[in-house]
Amino acid sequence: MRRTVLIVMGGVLLLAAAGCVANPVTGKSQLDLMGESQELELGRSLYSPYIQQSLGPIDDPDLQAYVRRVGGSLAAVSHRPGLPYDFTAVDDPTPNAFALPGGKICITRGLLSRFESEDGMAAVVGHEIGHVTARHAVAAYNRQILAGLVVLGAGVYASTSDDDAAPLVGLGAMIGSQLVLAKYSRDQERQSDELGLEYAVKAGFSPRGMIETHRVLLSLQQRAPGLAERMFASHPMSAERLATAEKRVAELPPDVRDRPLRSEPYRRIAGQVIADRPAWDLVVEGQTLLAGKTVQEGEARLAEAARKAPSAGVIRTLHAIGLYRAKQGGAAVAEAREGARLAGDVFIPRLVAGELLVKPAPAEALTNLDAAEKILPGIADVALLRGRAFEALGRRQEAVNAYKEAVGRDPQGEVGAAASGRLRALGAA
Ligand SMILES: [Zn+2]
Repeated sequence: MRRTVLIVMGGVLLLAAAGCVANPVTGKSQLDLMGESQELELGRSLYSPYIQQSLGPIDDPDLQAYVRRVGGSLAAVSHRPGLPYDFTAVDDPTPNAFALPGGKICITRGLLSRFESEDGMAAVVGHEIGHVTARHAVAAYNRQILAGLVVLGAGVYASTSDDDAAPLVGLGAMIGSQLVLAKYSRDQERQSDELGLEYAVKAGFSPRGMIETHRVLLSLQQRAPGLAERMFASHPMSAERLATAEKRVAELPPDVRDRPLRSEPYRRIAGQVIADRPAWDLVVEGQTLLAGKTVQEGEARLAEAARKAPSAGVIRTLHAIGLYRAKQGGAAVAEAREGARLAGDVFIPRLVAGELLVKPAPAEALTNLDAAEKILPGIADVALLRGRAFEALGRRQEAVNAYKEAVGRDPQGEVGAAASGRLRALGAA
């Protein structure tokens, strides 16, 4: 009895202490539930799952270095220059950018391929840094933690309980869409726009990048609202934001206002991403068709995407899923192998190869699943599939261990339930 009371009191004291955190932008103390060390830990632990769920980093070292350089120069002039910032360009073809607590920032291929200048990219990255420095996300992600949401894995696809259940049934829909992103208020959006512009100007970028960015986003919202709906859900967009940006830029001193947009380095360094946009737009179309159960047409779009960008491993993997859904199992296996070969450092190609190879080539499946486990440890699906591969290889004890691991990773969900079913079937429940 007494112990319980003490623990509860400890919790209250902890909350009270965290409530004293001062907002770095406003200087006012703010009733956040999280202190800075928790904020940093949360961002650090979520970053890799978020990157992998966004289809992994774009395989383009020059582009990654460019995004890091631009992001780093903005962070250095921000209100929280000392955070362990990270900037990653990810393969997600839908336009989006997001910031995790502590300064872990991602920008997608879908957005990068639509800018015309370095300053446009800097405006978006500066805006995301604004969400971090004004600590907008801390409360949001904290609510998610309290709600017990898990980023990746459990129950994402109902693969596995028996051999005829369609694996990958939900995987097509999983890409990106499972990401739980902070939802910002319109006031927070306004504040981040102001901060983004402030940081961009201080770091020497053209403020007109902010106008370019709002034009890009507004035209997306008008012409293809579905394409960027996740971005607009987390960052409310409006014509007002463009008008405000135009007004703010007009108020700046002429030498700042008239800084030229740097389009040459951008077009050069982001050139491949821009050139690959038609292929990735087909990926989005194909995924949307698959999600809407228009399987044949979805597969056809993904096949065309794979023809346009044959060395993009992630596209090959997504095409493998399309082939599988279109009941072309043999071709799906071959395509999944290509995907894992070309993008072996990315979780989803390894997972999909692991799943599709379980029956035809269980040893090869295991190699892929071990790689998936290394990239992103602790995912229940991987443990379940490893169990199935061990079973197929006749390695009963290792299968039992893997299934137990899957249950431990997902005690309440579908994946854990499927693993429990296999344990019962093996007489090891
Ligand atoms: Zn925003």
